[in-house]
Amino acid sequence: MSPDPDCLFCKIVAGEIPTNVVRESERTLAFRDVSPQAPTHVLVVPRDHHRDVAELAEAAPETLAELVSTAKAVADDEGIEAHRLVFNTGAEAGQSVFHVHGHVLGGRRMTWPPG
Ligand code: IMP
Repeated sequence: MSPDPDCLFCKIVAGEIPTNVVRESERTLAFRDVSPQAPTHVLVVPRDHHRDVAELAEAAPETLAELVSTAKAVADDEGIEAHRLVFNTGAEAGQSVFHVHGHVLGGRRMTWPPG
């Protein structure tokens, strides 16, 4: 899928916006969230543009599997065996960037239900 010229995360993948990259794989990129909500807060994105996790699962399930593996590798690198992998899906659920991303959150005690 070709990059969306208006998409923030497509620009990050293309190296057009400075970003703190922590891990890369063939089809994914992991970088620190600019507004961290936990001691570790890393976003894992596919290099290709997909709107949300369901669309990614439909269009490229192997990329979704690679994204989850990258998230696990990030958690291992950060020493957070217990962590959350969150995909906000839809504006009402808190999605603000419509290029699918998994939030890897950890390093503090998490509460439930999420806000
Ligand atoms: P969402 O609200 O689930 O879509 O998550 C979008 C995330 O992107 C938020 O946690 C933002 O803090 C983060 N974010 C926005 N702009 C940037 C950036 O330029 N670099 C890194 N993270 C960003």
